[in-house]
Amino acid sequence: MQHTFLMVKPDGVRRQLIGNIVRRFENRGFVLVGAKMMTISREQAERHYGQHKEKPFFGELVDFITSGPVFAMIWRGDNLIEVSRIMMGKTNPLEAAPGTIRGDFATYVGENVIHGSDSPESAERELENFFSTDELLAAGVLSSATDRI
Ligand code: ADP
Repeated sequence: MQHTFLMVKPDGVRRQLIGNIVRRFENRGFVLVGAKMMTISREQAERHYGQHKEKPFFGELVDFITSGPVFAMIWRGDNLIEVSRIMMGKTNPLEAAPGTIRGDFATYVGENVIHGSDSPESAERELENFFSTDELLAAGVLSSATDRI
């Protein structure tokens, strides 16, 4: 059983795609155990995308992800991280297969509707960046306040 962090990005929220995206993961058998609408700070965005700090698109990326509310989610399920990445589709929507979220809803790499953790390590780091200890406890990600994910 895995937990992962999924986030509908500001373009997906603006386009009212939250319900469609949540339904896809529920239909697949995954369980939504925590969620909130939030506008992320630049510090949080820079931490989230720290691995891209040196990339030419980093500024654009931080501007975009802080441009409006995101829908941050905690999901639970078997093989969730691998399957959720397949359901999202390739990073560049032009390469994403039809039937995937990015393949169905996006055309531009800078606005590709959804984020999902790509490994158990990044899921842990990203869940801690977006959710408080209380929220992680309520979602069942942590079983005690001194626990690690
Ligand atoms: P993923 O979101 O699929 O895990 P990455 O971690 O490689 O992909 O990239 C993070 C995000 O940075 C992407 O989702 C995308 O929105 C953005 N991005 C990646 N490459 C570019 C690019 N060439 N121009 C603009 N934005 C980009």
